[in-house]
Amino acid sequence: MRVVSVGGGDIVIDGREEMLVPDIYKENTFSEISSLCKANNISLSEYIEQCEGKKIWNFLYEIWDAMKHSINEGLTSTGILEGGLNVERKAQFLYNQRHIDESQETRENRIVCAYAFAVSEQNAAGGTIVTAPTCGASGVVPAVLRYMQEKKHVTDEQILRALAVGGLIGNLIKQNASISGAKCGCQGEVGTACSMASAALADLFGMDIDQIEYAAEVALEHHLGLTCDPICGLVQIPCIERNAVAAMRAINAMSLANFLSNTRKISFDLVVQTMYETGLDMSSDYRETADGGLAKLYKIDS
Ligand code: SF4
Repeated sequence: MRVVSVGGGDIVIDGREEMLVPDIYKENTFSEISSLCKANNISLSEYIEQCEGKKIWNFLYEIWDAMKHSINEGLTSTGILEGGLNVERKAQFLYNQRHIDESQETRENRIVCAYAFAVSEQNAAGGTIVTAPTCGASGVVPAVLRYMQEKKHVTDEQILRALAVGGLIGNLIKQNASISGAKCGCQGEVGTACSMASAALADLFGMDIDQIEYAAEVALEHHLGLTCDPICGLVQIPCIERNAVAAMRAINAMSLANFLSNTRKISFDLVVQTMYETGLDMSSDYRETADGGLAKLYKIDS
């Protein structure tokens, strides 16, 4: 068992639990962090390095390596996932579906989805993945970062800084709300992953702190109310496909933030609080019990 984490999920490396140092950040909200960074004229990743120390970069290098490995493993695996739903792995199929007249936009969606499917299928098969922030939502962050590294030829150092920013967003959501599907539904899992991925992309593209906040906010806001209803309690349907859709959404949210951050009305902190209260108001049928939604209505083929 080897699971590593960015963004607050459990950390298990080779069977032993690794404890993150608690209370390492004195600031509790994005607003506090943003004010401090602006007052000291530092970036979010510089703030994270000041809090965590330079050792954070070796840790994140291991995270990034594990993420890329999970994509590679997923892309080279085929067959039916265990559990009885007869779900076929699709990552390799998606990756290989190139057409001569394929547009750049269609290719982008296809490759990003292939990477998200690859990691999520590895998770469903019990392979090694990075919780980002959870196992069920582990495909979103690696998919967008791997695709953008290939497309933009950015360095590993730039990716690690983006990962740190994504991790910070995940930690804030975990601290001020929840990243648990059992507590807040899928908005807390895949919604958080999308928010992390969008913020990471915004940092990767050199956006300022307000734009990063907007990217994270937009991504989470438009997952509000998303239920957790895994069929048969397996992290396969809707989970695998949902990771791919969230990865595409993360890119769109980042693009929107690039243009509209000056006009926004909703803060990241407000949408985190809203997500939490929405989650607490949800019926338990929609919080990982597999008693409602798709899990209730889907009939397994006999
Ligand atoms: S539907 Fe539930 S189990 Fe599946 S990814 Fe979302 S929160 Fe996780």
